Amino acid sequence: MSIQRNPTRPVTIGSITIGNGHPIAVQSMTATKTQDIDATVAQAEALRERGAGVVRIAVDSKQDAAALAEIRLRTTANLAVDLQENFRLAELVAPHVDKIRYNPGHLYHHGRDMTWQDKVRYLIDLAGEHSCAVRIGVNCGSVDPAKKEKYAADDSITPMLESALEHCELVDSIGFHNFVVSLKDSDPSNVVEVNRRFAELRPDVPLHLGVTEAGMPPEGIIKTRIAFEQLIGKGIGDTVRVSLTLPNPRKPEEIDAGKEIISDIQAGRVRSVVRFDDTKLNIISCPSCSRVENEAFVDLAASVKEMTRYAQDYAITIAVMGCRVNGPGETDDADLGLWCGPAKVNLKKGEEALGAYGYDEILPKLQAELDALIAEKTGSAA
Ligand code: SF4
Repeated sequence: MSIQRNPTRPVTIGSITIGNGHPIAVQSMTATKTQDIDATVAQAEALRERGAGVVRIAVDSKQDAAALAEIRLRTTANLAVDLQENFRLAELVAPHVDKIRYNPGHLYHHGRDMTWQDKVRYLIDLAGEHSCAVRIGVNCGSVDPAKKEKYAADDSITPMLESALEHCELVDSIGFHNFVVSLKDSDPSNVVEVNRRFAELRPDVPLHLGVTEAGMPPEGIIKTRIAFEQLIGKGIGDTVRVSLTLPNPRKPEEIDAGKEIISDIQAGRVRSVVRFDDTKLNIISCPSCSRVENEAFVDLAASVKEMTRYAQDYAITIAVMGCRVNGPGETDDADLGLWCGPAKVNLKKGEEALGAYGYDEILPKLQAELDALIAEKTGSAA
């Protein structure tokens, strides 16, 4: 099957170019502590050798940025950095990386001295100066609050789309075009819709595809495949990440899964009969990264999956997140959410915080809430 790819413009990320008909690059992220230089270099190299076009590393502090400078010297992987709220660290990391990712939803906070436009200009100037590519990475769990308020509560797509378009316009107006956009959601059908709408309006901008917090294999791979088949099969997408919750030391399964999905789609081996069944229990969990606050996170995600099997016939979403950076926001839309701190796991019901419990106490607490939710849904006493 020959797929007519969207006529996106080329974007150079270190030694590779994506867009403009270039092969779809597969990405992954290190899950080691960034300051553990040996372990992070080993993981970045393992990912590169397996075929990662880009390897992302989280940087949250000046110490992480110093470690990154050393990591740069010891790997030939194309490195991307993910700055979340700490946009000012860009100054320290830009000389050492090939790509900077910023999340528009994180530039609206702490904005007394700088508007979000000033922050974007600051990031883009640094990217231009150091020949970095940029990813404008919009995420369903952290959209600009003003955009969210403008639209109905059940419309999560339009605020994401509007935010991405607005940032593209600003970055283009600065005269910088070496950027890609990502629009990620944990629901594959939302990923398909938001990327399709974006590609219609800005077919020139390369897209980085991914289903965020897809969870553990095999479900995480299935959710991602569903979204990718419908997008890549229609020529949308220039680079991908399959975000999987995997045990440490993390192996390159994300790369293997991404390569397999792309080659199946390009060979016409699509399984579009596969649909994500939203009448069933849905466990979403983050892929983990250097920000994980307790190594027990991956085991916890696996235990949650195991413990909740009895509820699989209920349309309930449970989110399990590894840290305080994205955990609190990205559990808001789940029926029940857990986000991990160093010693306690925070339990939420929708946006409501229910308390923080030890790692050995959390499962029974979650089960009690799940039973109560099932009772609410079925109208029976818990
Ligand atoms: Fe990393 Fe936290 Fe996101 Fe998990 S939720 S991938 S630990 S930033």
